[in-house]
Amino acid sequence: MFKVNDNYCKLPATYLFTEIARRVNTFQKENPSAKIIRMGIGDVTRPIIPVAIDALHNAVDDQADSTTFHGYGPEQGYDFLRSRIAENDYEKRGIHVELDEIFVSDGAKSDTGNIGDILSVDNIIAVTDPVYPVYVDTNVMAGRAGEFDGQKWSDIVYMPCTAENSFIPALPERRPDIIYLCYPNNPTGTTLTRDQLKVWVDYARVNGSLILFDSAYEAYIREDNVPHSIYEIEGAREVAIEFRSFSKTAGFTGLRCGYVVVPKQLKGIDANGNDVYLNPLWNRRQTTKFNGASYLVQRGAAAIYTARGQEQIRATIDYYMQNASMLREGLKSIGIEVFGGINAPYVWLKTPDGLSSWEFFDRLLHDAKVVGTPGVGFGPSGEGYFRLTAFSSHEATTEAVERITALKI
Ligand SMILES: *Cc1c(COP(=O)(O)O)cnc(C)c1O
Repeated sequence: MFKVNDNYCKLPATYLFTEIARRVNTFQKENPSAKIIRMGIGDVTRPIIPVAIDALHNAVDDQADSTTFHGYGPEQGYDFLRSRIAENDYEKRGIHVELDEIFVSDGAKSDTGNIGDILSVDNIIAVTDPVYPVYVDTNVMAGRAGEFDGQKWSDIVYMPCTAENSFIPALPERRPDIIYLCYPNNPTGTTLTRDQLKVWVDYARVNGSLILFDSAYEAYIREDNVPHSIYEIEGAREVAIEFRSFSKTAGFTGLRCGYVVVPKQLKGIDANGNDVYLNPLWNRRQTTKFNGASYLVQRGAAAIYTARGQEQIRATIDYYMQNASMLREGLKSIGIEVFGGINAPYVWLKTPDGLSSWEFFDRLLHDAKVVGTPGVGFGPSGEGYFRLTAFSSHEATTEAVERITALKI
């Protein structure tokens, strides 16, 4: 009989969102008239901006004519998009990125999950805790995680991020080979300043570690001392891969487009201790396993870099960030401690009265009919915290804030 990949069997059932759905459904059955407001799942709700929609329509028409038809494209992405990325996301911030350092993809979930293909299974990985679950689960699948004790994986280094350390992870005691950093952070909505990120770049340089930097929420940054790219930090090109996505920036969660930057200086070692550059390895991986993001989607993505595109995505992000600020202010007004929501569409709150994350979930569902995400679902250090997203409408957010502030907490 053939054998399956045992690593997949080690994965615990995806508990968090199934359990949320189960509790919400039960409540709705018992209270059929209750108008539940969902602020749990991290998906955008505003439509794609008009300039991107126009570009998508035009790209469809291109496909209808033999003179403008596009078949297989470059696996790394079309230069019309890569050049706009290089210019707008990097050159404008004083960072030089070559076009062949940019790999366009179908999104950052795939990229952060797939990057492990070019890295040895012997590497020790480190994650902040709480964490975006993809980083952990894809390493379980690859066989890098060890054994699960119900809370943590034995071979993964967890770096707690809580109110006690202001959500700034301390350098780990055990040296990791690979460090996942996501800033602005999902789920906590918190950020690192340039100086705080420099600590990690310096650590990686001294210790021969690789930083996998996920900046999916870069477009939400409002404060000047928060870096938009890890390459703003001197020396980062030798130690970091950066992941970006059009999902939260431009509402592409359904369209699918992202990219990864693999600088040419970045190198690891092979089993014999010889230097190996990562850029050609990732290129080989992508050209073998991936046929590029669709032409249509790349045309849509390129349009967001026009002046009108930038204005329009800004308006959408401002809309979400007004929700974030309403949530922050509302929660604070009833004495709840809140974090995030200033440079990110997530508000992370300390549950009141020492309630556990799930107890607070039930309290909010039953008494305010508002659904959020229990912090413990993102890792053991998320216990006692709770995430609300700013991705709802103004109306729903206003209503949710009214209901929450009416609670006797
Ligand atoms: C939403 C999100 C992404 C984006 O993933 P896509 O696959 O591009 O939609 C990446 N990282 C984090 C932490 C996210 O929350």
